[in-house]
Amino acid sequence: MNKELDVVVTQVKESVWPVTAYPRQDGDMAVGGIGLAKLAERFGTPLHVMDEEDVRRRCRAFTRAFPEADVAYAGKAFLCRVMAGWIASEGLSLDVCSAGELAVARTAGFPARKVLMHGNAKTPDDLRAALSYGVGRIVVDSFSEITRLAAMAAGGTTPRPRLMVRVTPGVDGHTHEAISTGTDDQKFGFSLASGAAAEAIQRVIAQRRLELVGLHCHIGSQITDLDAFDLSARRMIGLLAAVRDAHGITLPQLDLGGGFGVPYREGDPELDPQALADRLHRVLREACDENRLPVPKITIEPGRAIAARAGVTVYRVVSVKHAASGGLLVAVNGGMSDNPRPGLYGARYSVRLIGRKSLGGDRTATVVGRHCEAGDVLVKDAQFPADIRPGDLLAIPCTGAYHHSMASNYNLVPRPPVLAVREGRARLMIRRETEEDLLRRDAG
Ligand SMILES: *Cc1c(COP(=O)(O)O)cnc(C)c1O
Repeated sequence: MNKELDVVVTQVKESVWPVTAYPRQDGDMAVGGIGLAKLAERFGTPLHVMDEEDVRRRCRAFTRAFPEADVAYAGKAFLCRVMAGWIASEGLSLDVCSAGELAVARTAGFPARKVLMHGNAKTPDDLRAALSYGVGRIVVDSFSEITRLAAMAAGGTTPRPRLMVRVTPGVDGHTHEAISTGTDDQKFGFSLASGAAAEAIQRVIAQRRLELVGLHCHIGSQITDLDAFDLSARRMIGLLAAVRDAHGITLPQLDLGGGFGVPYREGDPELDPQALADRLHRVLREACDENRLPVPKITIEPGRAIAARAGVTVYRVVSVKHAASGGLLVAVNGGMSDNPRPGLYGARYSVRLIGRKSLGGDRTATVVGRHCEAGDVLVKDAQFPADIRPGDLLAIPCTGAYHHSMASNYNLVPRPPVLAVREGRARLMIRRETEEDLLRRDAG
């Protein structure tokens, strides 16, 4: 079974479509054994589809590459109770960064000890929720949070809250500024270079009611450069050695974060979990030998690398316009409310006409959304048949991470549902938002 999975994962490695996707003779695209056009008929559009098999295989690629480590899925990429169930059944831990994400984990029965709570500005409500559920680790991110947790733990929480200190190692992952989190002078963590990290570690150690279990860093997202992870791991081992020298304590754990890049379009680079594992294992052995430290228990936190490629979004074309310059504008019934990434990061996607055979030549077009912003563009320079028309269905791959989780109700457009597909069956994970949902909060 595993052998067979290996082969399939290798074959589709370069692909941006889910592992079970295949184009059908009639022009449709099947995912999880069901045609996307059929799903669009049954569940309406826009529609997010998640390939369960894809999510599970990505989980296994990490647990196989890092058999001794704790692999924690970063839930902010995409979280609902069904997803939490898949993650738990694959043996992964779970990162949450709010009481809301924790509520999903809790009501899905996700084991508390396998939950990590993150956030640069956790509110007292977030911290209370974390302590009352008894999460395995809280990753502290500010001095005031250390003080607040010590005060909350004074009530006699047993056992003591287990903390990691989030360190900013000063490593640039060469990614977009909005998702670069490892450099100095951004909002996350305690700077290694300024001495703030050492100060935070000292303060947690000084709090009898708190237990420091290790250090954490996360240098950013969509990183494909192994050197960046190599450098941050070396710096973090150096800090563990400094903690040992200053306090006589050998911290048992090191969390190296996530941010492993995935391709959004054919030909984009990706970070292979096994290549990452081989590099990190070597670096950790070397750096720990140099510092006469035992290799700590490692945690890694893939988010996008687990969820992104499992997702496909299906839209219906509403209008086709010829711009004054002669360009073709294909407008769909969704846009920046279900996919804010082009606007936020200049993210680029591919798109495909599905549900019918195309007749004739290729045309270059721009796929735009329905929202009242000129920047609501989903795909630039897309290729379509010349007869692209209203009513056609389009599928955009690689929308499983940071799409539904970042969705908004801009223009009071209801958020799309998320469907899980597997072996010819579809199951609703999150239902479509209704007008009633939208009006419910309007207190007027
Ligand atoms: C967002 C985040 C991740 C996951 O990032 P990806 O780019 O989705 O892999 C991991 N750890 C922390 C602390 C994060 O904030």
